[in-house]
Amino acid sequence: MPVPAEPSIFSRIVAREIPANIYAETDTLIAIADIAPKAPVHILIVPKSEGYANVVELAAGDPGLLAEMIALAAQLAAEHADGDFRLVFNTGAGAGQTVFHVHAHLLAGSLEEGSLA
Ligand code: C5P
Repeated sequence: MPVPAEPSIFSRIVAREIPANIYAETDTLIAIADIAPKAPVHILIVPKSEGYANVVELAAGDPGLLAEMIALAAQLAAEHADGDFRLVFNTGAGAGQTVFHVHAHLLAGSLEEGSLA
């Protein structure tokens, strides 16, 4: 698995080089508030390791970690909203992905049409 030349913005948050509002942290994941929220609850769920650029690579390489991301999303949606949620994985620049370190957008709380991240 190729190692990126520079740490991603999320790796720098994991290393506490850049501040973030942290909702949860496990051995493998960190969950942070998105700095530009598109919903009342907008949390990014991010593997600490940056070996996977997007969810397709993650699903092929470590499906258990993808399952951990989904379980943490459900837990955070229950803790911070009514338990219902959207999970968005932008995949590719043409779909709006700007950080190529796989992450899920957890969107919850009175969602309106068009509130996709
Ligand atoms: O899916 P995409 O790659 O566009 O998502 C990246 C997300 O990371 C954006 O929603 C952006 O607001 C968020 N971000 C953040 N904190 C940073 C840099 C980016 O929450 N320091």
